[in-house]
Amino acid sequence: MAYSYEAPVSQSLFDRASVVTPGGVNSPVRAFRAVGGTPRFMVSGTGPYLTDADGREYVDLVCSWGPMILGHSHPEVIAAVQDAVSRGTSFGTPGEGEVALAEEIVARIEPVEQVRLVSSGTEATMSAIRLARGFTGRAKVVKFAGCYHGHVDALLAAAGSGVATFGLPDTPGVTGATAGDTVVLPYNDLDAVRVAFAAHPGEIACVITEASPGNMGVVPPADGFNAGLKELCAANGALYISDEVMTGFRTSKAGWYGVDGVRPDLMTFGKVMGGGFPAAAFGGRGDVMAHLAPAGPVYQAGTLSGNPVATAAGLAQLRLLDDAAYAKIDAVSAELRSLVGDALAKEGVAHTVSAASNMFSVFFTDRPVRDYEDAKKQDVFRFTAFFHSMLEQGVYLPPSAFESWFVSTAHDERAVERIAAALPAAARAASEATA
Ligand code: PLP
Repeated sequence: MAYSYEAPVSQSLFDRASVVTPGGVNSPVRAFRAVGGTPRFMVSGTGPYLTDADGREYVDLVCSWGPMILGHSHPEVIAAVQDAVSRGTSFGTPGEGEVALAEEIVARIEPVEQVRLVSSGTEATMSAIRLARGFTGRAKVVKFAGCYHGHVDALLAAAGSGVATFGLPDTPGVTGATAGDTVVLPYNDLDAVRVAFAAHPGEIACVITEASPGNMGVVPPADGFNAGLKELCAANGALYISDEVMTGFRTSKAGWYGVDGVRPDLMTFGKVMGGGFPAAAFGGRGDVMAHLAPAGPVYQAGTLSGNPVATAAGLAQLRLLDDAAYAKIDAVSAELRSLVGDALAKEGVAHTVSAASNMFSVFFTDRPVRDYEDAKKQDVFRFTAFFHSMLEQGVYLPPSAFESWFVSTAHDERAVERIAAALPAAARAASEATA
């Protein structure tokens, strides 16, 4: 595909980056490999807008892959960060900020009796499955194809997100022994979970699932799926781990738990709770969390865990996320979904706008998408054309057909109008695209 626009400064930065960093990026999906072209190097963000190194402004529908739920450079978050940073950046001791952030999480999410702070979603899921294994004395972990839980060795099998984007079945470097304890099942298929428990009696430590998946595109759980998982776990002595790294504090005040009310044994969080800084967490039942060091024998630690600047940013962001904020995000999301759907319908492009609360994505197929296999059957080449047309017109979408789009409280009328103005040409480009 030829691109009719250029980004010379981003291109020269990418050339430099490619010399010193594998593939020129520090996280694969940023590299634009799925869509082609030059990744944009951003220099600043304000509200719903990002500005790249070539001086072009974009309406941002990635929001740093979820964290920037108040938009970029929110003045109260920035003030909290400046205040924290003026007192020092890391102490390696406990501090009040981490207590306050833990209290905020526990207050919002009822199944979380205790929480441990870490620095990334990957660390949160890795630690949660270690704890589940330590608590149950069992080895096996059930996960679902298309669900991404970070780059934890045991959870990279049939993962979504970048692994889906690049079509990697597995990744070299994960040993057979590690992968051998991971059972991968099709999403939204409770029968498959029943069969797995029957096939491995007394061996499954936990079932981990995205609370509502956003890493194969947005594929919400079918009615009763999460409740069924919980029930099967309880019946078989396994823990039910709900990964809310993406949905947590986004899909409602209490994340996806606030939507479906299914009570997990353990939960994982990241993204929104860090306010744009590296802060993440896992938590849940008090009797399970009591197994964690130093209270219990399961080891887990981190030099920068509960970092004072990150916890200040996260706390400031969470405190601003009241009912009105969620109502606003939900409304913007609904408006954009309807604008995108209308534009594609007008051009006769087969599509499904799939939503889970205010998270959404577009599948370029009109067949129902219930799992990863369904998601892979879309016309990805149409997404590519759509993506580049939007980018050219100043709208920054995730550079992959297998990712959620994110909005923020800062997406105001002007931002929505700019997106609306770009959609007709992008829909036409999708309609005219060829495989
Ligand atoms: N779990 C889910 C559901 C995610 O979406 C992600 C990241 O996108 C992770 C875990 C990993 O988080 P991190 O990238 O902070 O390691």
